[in-house]
Amino acid sequence: MVTINSESGTMTLLPAAPGKCQECASTHDADQPHNAQSLFYQVRFQMLHGRTPDWRDALSHCTEDVRKIWTDALAGHGIDVEAGQINQPMKGHRR
Ligand SMILES: [Zn+2]
Repeated sequence: MVTINSESGTMTLLPAAPGKCQECASTHDADQPHNAQSLFYQVRFQMLHGRTPDWRDALSHCTEDVRKIWTDALAGHGIDVEAGQINQPMKGHRR
């Protein structure tokens, strides 16, 4: 959960619920990628690394086989992992 103090302008990220991945607040096996589309993951990663994460970051701890399976599956949904896309591009917004 993300809380924002509008007076001080500070942002606090509370821990993910017990049983959830503490990096993305989703439920997944340790050998599977973090949920790159999770707001929790996006905010946590930004706070730690000073930049926005993408699927390559979410997959970085996975084996080569798992990375390939996910990269291919995401490509099947129109998401170019190597281009840094997180979500399917909106129709009419082609690069
Ligand atoms: Zn995770």
